[in-house]
Amino acid sequence: MGNDGSKDNFGCKGCWPPSAEAAWEARGQLRREDPLIDESHYIVAVLTCSACAQRFISIFTEEIDWVDGDDPQYWTLMPLTQQEATDLGRRDGSLSVAALKSLASDRRSLRRDYPKGVDEPRLYWATGV
Ligand SMILES: [Zn+2]
Repeated sequence: MGNDGSKDNFGCKGCWPPSAEAAWEARGQLRREDPLIDESHYIVAVLTCSACAQRFISIFTEEIDWVDGDDPQYWTLMPLTQQEATDLGRRDGSLSVAALKSLASDRRSLRRDYPKGVDEPRLYWATGV
């Protein structure tokens, strides 16, 4: 199997398929809960698959390009364990996004980068958030 990340224990075929393109498309079908952080250029939300109840953390970042207004945008989607999802959703924030970075640094995640000056966003598998 190696380290290609094509198998992990999260989600179902519908929400966490082997291809990054399919996974990005599947993201659109996930149910979005109230964002944990909702600033105009930094949005963190938990998304849930209605088929298998897998929960994901979604992080969206936009860098402001004051010069050209061509703002680079970045998305990360990573599945969560039940415990992580619960902790993240708590108002007292017993698990922060920063903590999650260290906790799940080798977990497969989906990235979509849309940097400045490119025509097409880049979609790829990475690890962590
Ligand atoms: Zn699913």
